[in-house]
Amino acid sequence: MNIILFGAPGAGKGTQSALLVERRTMKHISTGDIFRSHIKQQTELGRSAKVYMDQGKLVPDSIVVGMVEDVLKGLGSQNFILDGFPRTVPQAEALEGMLKKNGLEIGKALFLEVPMDDLMGRLTGRRVCSGCGATYHIASKPTQRAGVCDLCGSEVIQRADDKEDVIRTRLEAYETSTAPLKAYFAAQGKFSAVGGTGQTEDVYRRLVGQM
Ligand code: AMP
Repeated sequence: MNIILFGAPGAGKGTQSALLVERRTMKHISTGDIFRSHIKQQTELGRSAKVYMDQGKLVPDSIVVGMVEDVLKGLGSQNFILDGFPRTVPQAEALEGMLKKNGLEIGKALFLEVPMDDLMGRLTGRRVCSGCGATYHIASKPTQRAGVCDLCGSEVIQRADDKEDVIRTRLEAYETSTAPLKAYFAAQGKFSAVGGTGQTEDVYRRLVGQM
């Protein structure tokens, strides 16, 4: 089954996607990761997206939709997870057209539910590996050696948009633009909420229980 995984920044979409990739051999399509890779490679798309990302704002729909369309065109038969897309109702509407064109279907839109009060702590403490993208948390999931990724040995850093003032803007963007997707997918009979607090493995069990 192809799924959309959505929720507020810091809800655990990346962590749960990594488990689904490993255990269910699904393909992970994260628009945030694609943008970060473009920024690293200093492409034109990366330069355009960075202006918005650094401020915690959403990248305009016109840029995101074209980028996802390219990814969907190249997909094989492997089931996929859309992580961080769609993030607005117009993106969800555009996605419907793109899926139809490519003979693809989404089975479920799974919403990772985490109380707003928990998100700031999750995001300010989050660290990511600059090499393989593995995620850590300074309190709940520290690296074994300070600043060094347990998996690949690369440097572990704080994302530029995981600073408190930028996080506030990202959470506002989520409330205004992304939260309305709950009703959008509910109207299609594809919405399921999954409790996103507690142990990673417990969240994973709840998540796959809805697939
Ligand atoms: P993420 O890694 O999903 O937290 O995304 C990081 C940043 O990339 C967001 O704060 C946005 O600036 C941008 N971004 C990622 N996906 C989208 C999207 N679907 N629409 C607009 N902006 C996005």
